[in-house]
Amino acid sequence: MHSSPTKTSAGKKRIHLSLAHIGSVEQEFVLEAFDAGWVTSLGPNVDGFEHDIASFLGENVRVAALSAGTAALHLGLILLGVGAGDEVICQSFTFSASANPIKYLGAKPVFVDSEKTTWNMSSQLLETAIEDRIRKTGKRPKAIIPVHIYGMPARMNEILAIAKHYDIPVLEDAAEALGSKYENRACGTFGDIAALSFNGNKIITTSGGGALVSVNSEFVSRAIFLASQARDAAPYYQHSHVGYNYRLSNVCAGIGRGQMMVLPDRVERRRANNLYYRNRLSGITGIEFQTEPDGCFSNYWLTAMLVNPDASGGITCEYLREALEKENIESRPLWKPLHLQPVFADCPFYGDGTCESLFERGICLPSGSTLTETDLFRVTDIINRTID
Ligand SMILES: *Cc1c(COP(=O)(O)O)cnc(C)c1O
Repeated sequence: MHSSPTKTSAGKKRIHLSLAHIGSVEQEFVLEAFDAGWVTSLGPNVDGFEHDIASFLGENVRVAALSAGTAALHLGLILLGVGAGDEVICQSFTFSASANPIKYLGAKPVFVDSEKTTWNMSSQLLETAIEDRIRKTGKRPKAIIPVHIYGMPARMNEILAIAKHYDIPVLEDAAEALGSKYENRACGTFGDIAALSFNGNKIITTSGGGALVSVNSEFVSRAIFLASQARDAAPYYQHSHVGYNYRLSNVCAGIGRGQMMVLPDRVERRRANNLYYRNRLSGITGIEFQTEPDGCFSNYWLTAMLVNPDASGGITCEYLREALEKENIESRPLWKPLHLQPVFADCPFYGDGTCESLFERGICLPSGSTLTETDLFRVTDIINRTID
């Protein structure tokens, strides 16, 4: 049940960056929800989905299914005690949803650059940032948000060691990294709290959804309470706290249960796409892929590569993107660093130029699990002919 292929006037099928890939079991779970009248935020699919995620991740985590990954990050910050006037450290090289919830709470994002291998938060610059914020404000930042960008695990050992040294909790943004592993442990189990996303373009989807993950069972219970309008235990509606409407519906959770069954296959396919690109493009000088350092296992949610115009006969990543678009192939520049975004212009940044350079040189290639070998051939063929 894929999205219907769109044809251009040239008759070439559109190749998308990353499409939802729904199987048949999903429908059965959804139908069950309908038949049983469980179409609200309570029900067996929500419990089942949370259980499926927890057992997939291991490490005795508990899971709260939510309406979005952004909601998980927002509740995560609340649980870690972030409030107005606090500072929160966040990776700059990421999607805006990693940092927006800091702003929701009236707190201030402090951005940190990436290191050159994983493209994720540099532990050296993290330490520099913490020291400097303490010097300037007299306070420690309230939380650290590392991200596993495009599915590539961040160097969690180093980041956690620094977080521990300064006694700052970690909110792990694993929205892109379900199925990725660092030193054989699932991404989403490293932070004091972690956030997952099941948005339509992620490795698996509930059409829209997310999850908050933690080994701290009280955090998870509290997240569920806050996500369900913070109702006190009374026969009438009584509220002692500000609540949110962030719970996942039982219908969406039904899609999620089906998707959890195919997750290992989806990871395998995205990794196979990545391998195909590497093999077929290995002859081109001037391109370079995001690669897995020792100890990292990426779900390769998106395959990302850098184009070096000095070595590729002047071809830039934007030229390549346009060449692909002309052939009805969608590709996308890498994330524009958040410290360069107008909305975060007044936020401090600790960097050495790494993520700015990634943004200037990088492109994400079609990476979905619905891609066929013919699709992949078409993409690599254009790239090979464009950069020659
Ligand atoms: C998708 C994404 C989010 C937000 O998840 P939603 O479910 O879309 O709210 C947060 N962080 C990163 C890095 C993401 O890619």
